Amino acid sequence: MQPALIVDAHEDLAYNMLVFGRDYTRSAAETRQFEAASSSTALEHNGQSVLGWPDYQRGRVAVIFSTLFVTPLRRQTGSWDTQVYADDNQAHQLYRAQLDTYHKLTDQAPDHFQFIGNRADLESVLADWNDPSRATHPVGLVPLMEGAEGVRSPAELDEWWQTGLRMIGPAWAGTRFCGGTHDPGPLTEAGRALLEGMADFGFTLDLSHMDELSARQALDMYEGPIIASHANAAVLLPGYDGNRLLPENVIKGLIARDAIIGVVPFCRFLKNGWKAGDRRDDITLQTLAAHIDHICQLAGDARHAGLGSDFDGGFGLESIPAGMDTIADLQDLAPILKEKGYHDEEVAAILGENWLRHLRTYLPK
Ligand SMILES: [Zn+2]
Repeated sequence: MQPALIVDAHEDLAYNMLVFGRDYTRSAAETRQFEAASSSTALEHNGQSVLGWPDYQRGRVAVIFSTLFVTPLRRQTGSWDTQVYADDNQAHQLYRAQLDTYHKLTDQAPDHFQFIGNRADLESVLADWNDPSRATHPVGLVPLMEGAEGVRSPAELDEWWQTGLRMIGPAWAGTRFCGGTHDPGPLTEAGRALLEGMADFGFTLDLSHMDELSARQALDMYEGPIIASHANAAVLLPGYDGNRLLPENVIKGLIARDAIIGVVPFCRFLKNGWKAGDRRDDITLQTLAAHIDHICQLAGDARHAGLGSDFDGGFGLESIPAGMDTIADLQDLAPILKEKGYHDEEVAAILGENWLRHLRTYLPK
């Protein structure tokens, strides 16, 4: 039997391409070599890459939710970060440029990457992966906007939908829409208007980074599909008192809304107090599997857990579980989950099929 297909619900590919000049048709190993020998600032600010097309092939990573991510000026940490906005107009321009980056990439390298805007696009990518006569396969990209400040008003959602955007997370830091990471707060008036507009089109709402209060309000009011593309369970990190990881009531609310939660193989989200440079030999894929199992135990099934690696999203090889080298090693979760008692279909659901179910249900025809 072939290993399961992986769907990764969160990778900041465009940001890395634009800020660090990363070329994701290369392997992670090639990118590391190239950056070690160049004056690239990527190693210093983003660590050693763990992503690349050859690694997607080895790991059977068939679909990625590829983000549009730009930094609000007040959170800029250095002039190396070129994707920074001071106001809505700048945000709009930068987010649009990142979406264009995905259109260009998929136009120029269709054997490597294909744009997924509807169900037919998805099925075409999957048919290729399921065709045993094909030696390599294109990776499907579903764009996801993280932060949402590129949407200047709900009236503009039509433009975003027409250009292929399908998923929006209203927060990274707090935004004018809602409370976010390190910025507690509720949904604002503008946030409610955004959500009402998003539901009219059927945008998927990503609750990741939303503060608990705004996340609970969104779970109550949003009439379209909901996910958490990249977040772990706060309760499994004893002593954790931040607002980035998911509290139990939000996880339960997500499950009640038939949402899927992508767990993050990032040491800081797996061990409270872990920081860059710390030892990580006690943080492994077993630790990540505990987050998957926690979600499945709360749900009573394996339909609500998935993967959202956030790899190359501000951290690299130095900050991922011990024993992993690239994204392809996420396949090592399969034997760990089986050991915990999960059946083959449940393992396949967690690695990718749950996200595929979401896409098949909610992408436009
Ligand atoms: Zn994020």
